[in-house]
Amino acid sequence: MSEALPGMQKPPVQPARVRDAAAVVLYRRRGAGGAAVFWLKRGKDLRFAGGFYAFPGGRVDPADSEVPVEGAEGLDAALVVAAARELLEETGVLVADGADRVSARQRADMRRALLEAKATFATLLKEHGLRLRKRDFVDAGRWITPPFMPVRFDARFFLVEAPAAQDAEVWPGELSEGRWIKPAEALELWNEGRALLHPPNLHAMRVMATFTTPEDAAQRLSTPQNAPGHIPSRIEFQRGIHLFPLETDTLPPATHTNAYVVGNGELLIVDPGSKEVRQYARLLALIAGMVAEGKRPRAIFLTHHHADHVGGALAVKERLKIPIWAHERTAERLPAGAVDRLLVDDEVIDLQGLPAMKLRVLHTPGHARGHLCLIDEATRAAIVGDMVAGVGTIVIDPPEGDMTDYLAQLERLKNLPVSTLYPAHGPVIPDGPGKLEEYLLHRQHRERLVFEAIPRFGATLHEVVKKAYADTMEAMHPIAERSAQAILIKLVREGRVVRRDERYFHA
Ligand SMILES: [Zn+2]
Repeated sequence: MSEALPGMQKPPVQPARVRDAAAVVLYRRRGAGGAAVFWLKRGKDLRFAGGFYAFPGGRVDPADSEVPVEGAEGLDAALVVAAARELLEETGVLVADGADRVSARQRADMRRALLEAKATFATLLKEHGLRLRKRDFVDAGRWITPPFMPVRFDARFFLVEAPAAQDAEVWPGELSEGRWIKPAEALELWNEGRALLHPPNLHAMRVMATFTTPEDAAQRLSTPQNAPGHIPSRIEFQRGIHLFPLETDTLPPATHTNAYVVGNGELLIVDPGSKEVRQYARLLALIAGMVAEGKRPRAIFLTHHHADHVGGALAVKERLKIPIWAHERTAERLPAGAVDRLLVDDEVIDLQGLPAMKLRVLHTPGHARGHLCLIDEATRAAIVGDMVAGVGTIVIDPPEGDMTDYLAQLERLKNLPVSTLYPAHGPVIPDGPGKLEEYLLHRQHRERLVFEAIPRFGATLHEVVKKAYADTMEAMHPIAERSAQAILIKLVREGRVVRRDERYFHA
């Protein structure tokens, strides 16, 4: 993304409201010791953690405070109610005093009634003579979603042993799958980049992998490292790729540029974009913590030259005494001597570590002439800079931006194929190929609108934008105009449109 255009109103950075939520680490003891946990995969279109693996849970409903809980009051009680209700809705497991008298059929009926909002949880519990008890829901930590996330929760975790006579099962809907899994197996999938985990769930898996007693597990679940004020400071959705968003002057609605710290020994620091010392000092503190664990910063990697990607690069270079690596076209746009090594398409960066990582460099011009992506060879995870955005849109601004190149590179990434996309702005994208296909279709659609916005007697750029971007807020039209220009250049190049003076005509 580019920096905000001059004259554009930049809204103040306002973190999303934090909502109370409950999550349940549902476990079953295994014969040989240890425990299995029930995890589920959230539907990829959900606003919070779509496509990630998680534990059952969700927001506290206003109605949750009307249900009595033995041994708890106020918010503490409402959190237990939310935990019990979400557990029933998402897995079919009913944890309450008297649940052993409820048949599997009745439990399924209760669950359906809840999901279809045909009855309240309070009524259902009363009908079956059930009573919720705090002691069935053991406190297992508290996690607050970091401020940069668009949806935020203050989540209380509970450790709950599954009743022996009940099985957990996911019904089709918002959750795409759910099953019992050994925590060690879940961690292996996380290692391989095949299961993305938010920090609380990664922590829980690590604790449950060495389960002995519920008391010990609850204690360790409640005392994570790297979570000052209950907010996780280490965000590693898959092994070896740390996400660290910095506030930048970027293009709204985005407010941050994601820096990434990549590696399990040697570290590559991708796009330290903020020029504000308060911002990059936080990044340096994170890196200092990793250095204390024996890791070693090797270089700064720049996806492209835009100010919201390179803002802190020289300061970080100075502090860490490491070189900056970038494409030649990026180096040309930065102060002389800023870039120490020029990277080319298809070269591989080897990062020592446990495990070592091989990162393939892709030259992906389109948004910027020197734009680079990084592909982790083992997991196919892709750090994509401004090829794709988790929030907002990618601007192709000629002459730097080139629509023909951009579309070719989107297609190339899709066909590699890639797995998870790590964009420079907004949330991580678990379904990379799906998102790239969506982008390609969207761009085709827009190209058609631009083409069709040209009448027989021709039109100026301004007139084309008014018609082809009628669905876009007027305030965004200066940006739309740049994109329309990029499309028109492509159409002229393809011989479908001709330009005479300041007007465009069908060829
Ligand atoms: Zn950019």
